[in-house]
Amino acid sequence: MRKLIIAIDGPAGAGKSTVAKRLARELGYLYMDTGAMYRALAWKVLLKGIAVTEEALSQVLGDTQIELVEGDGYLRVLLDGSDVTHQIRTPEVSQMASKISALKIVRERMVQLQRAMGVRGGIVAEGRDIGTVVFPDADVKIYLDASTAERGRRRFEELKTQGKAVTLEETLEEMDERDRRDTERVVAPLRKADDALYLDSTLLDVDEVMRRSMREIEHRMENNQ
Ligand code: C5P
Repeated sequence: MRKLIIAIDGPAGAGKSTVAKRLARELGYLYMDTGAMYRALAWKVLLKGIAVTEEALSQVLGDTQIELVEGDGYLRVLLDGSDVTHQIRTPEVSQMASKISALKIVRERMVQLQRAMGVRGGIVAEGRDIGTVVFPDADVKIYLDASTAERGRRRFEELKTQGKAVTLEETLEEMDERDRRDTERVVAPLRKADDALYLDSTLLDVDEVMRRSMREIEHRMENNQ
């Protein structure tokens, strides 16, 4: 049977990573965390003090390698051959990722890399523009959402578990600013694709979101045979 492309989009803290990882594991598909790719580039920009302009980023991109490598049950993010999986999970990197991802040159390069990774299908890709720009013909599209308060709470708990010293208020502010930038940018803004299934996970647990997502995927598989 042909392997599908599954696109999961939505704002920060909606539960995309948790669901995308679990779906990929259950289906034996590749998990593609596109946010991690923007984060890896943001990490380099911060480290080297690079200006957030089309010109500066165009130069950097010509000299940057970003890879997602699956192994030992988790996804590693390689930047120019170095493992930056853990370094890229800070609020500073989140903000910078959101800033550079508004640049056309950056998006063009990332979309090119992402399409190359998905060329054979069998992937669960999560991000902001997967169902609208990267894979507009994806077999299954899910737009995962939740209330701002709930998304902030989840992100705060996640950062706390990682030992990050942040307050709930700071987390909410950071998320809010990022969501606004991601939604309002001119190039590939975050929005639900017209043919995406809208799932509000505010009052749903992960198992229920999984059940509804799998139902959508199985339905698609049946129609595909
Ligand atoms: O998903 P994550 O929070 O790791 O993404 C970090 C940032 O990268 C987002 O806030 C967004 O600005 C950007 N991004 C994007 N398009 C994607 C994935 C992430 O613009 N497909």
